[in-house]
Amino acid sequence: MRLILLGPPGAGKGTQAAQLVERYGIPQISTGDMLRAAVRAQTPMGLEAKACMDAGALVTDAVVVGIVRERLQQQDCAQGFILDGFPRTIPQAEALKGTLTALEMPLDAVVSLQVETNALVERLTGRRTCRNCGRGYHIRFDAPAKEGVCDACAGDLFQRDDDQAETIRHRLEVYHQQTAPLEDFYQAESLLKKVDGMAPIAVVQQQITALLQVI
Ligand code: ADP
Ligand code: ADP
Ligand code: ZN
Repeated sequence: MRLILLGPPGAGKGTQAAQLVERYGIPQISTGDMLRAAVRAQTPMGLEAKACMDAGALVTDAVVVGIVRERLQQQDCAQGFILDGFPRTIPQAEALKGTLTALEMPLDAVVSLQVETNALVERLTGRRTCRNCGRGYHIRFDAPAKEGVCDACAGDLFQRDDDQAETIRHRLEVYHQQTAPLEDFYQAESLLKKVDGMAPIAVVQQQITALLQVI
């Protein structure tokens, strides 16, 4: 199964991807997670990406295309993968198409999560992430048993720097300008599957697995 999860910041891509990883045993490829790891490790790429990420802008296409191309060639992607947060621009989608054609690994579907803007802001402001294992939570919609503590590993939960109101507004603008056109791109490739992302987490997961059964 080779999938893209598409959708604005806060749509639930990471949450759904984590459950699909469990279900299908294929890796999640999150460019946001990979970039944040590079920032933490203070690699040259991380240092370059940090300013863009803090501002809620996109990192350059060449950088993200490079990391995804490398990742897709690793052994664990041979059985499939879930791209989460990539591609985010038409040039990234074009580059991905070239890479997957060369690797003879065509996409099966592009699942686009449809969520209203007000809900996105509420989700992003309440998002918390485990510092240790990376699991995502929401203070209201997906709360841990004990506040501030990860259910899975007891790590502490933190709020991302870019999940602040001002930066969120900018990220949503960037989404509309640069990423939303990908729906038409994948519609033209007959890969686009729209899913109601406003439903509860488990219901969204059911919708996704139901549509994956018939592709
Ligand atoms: P994305 O990866 O698309 O930015 P996340 O998966 O991190 O989105 O979800 C953003 C926030 O919204 C998280 O706090 C998550 O727990 C919460 N969330 C995800 N899906 C839903 C849903 N269907 N209903 C309510 N909250 C959700
Ligand atoms: P979200 O889960 O809210 O959609 P991500 O974790 O996917 O956010 O991305 C966080 C930040 O990392 C983005 O605002 C952007 O700066 C950078 N980033 C992630 N993926 C890409 C990409 N495909 N192209 C450019 N920048 C990216
Ligand atoms: Zn954890």
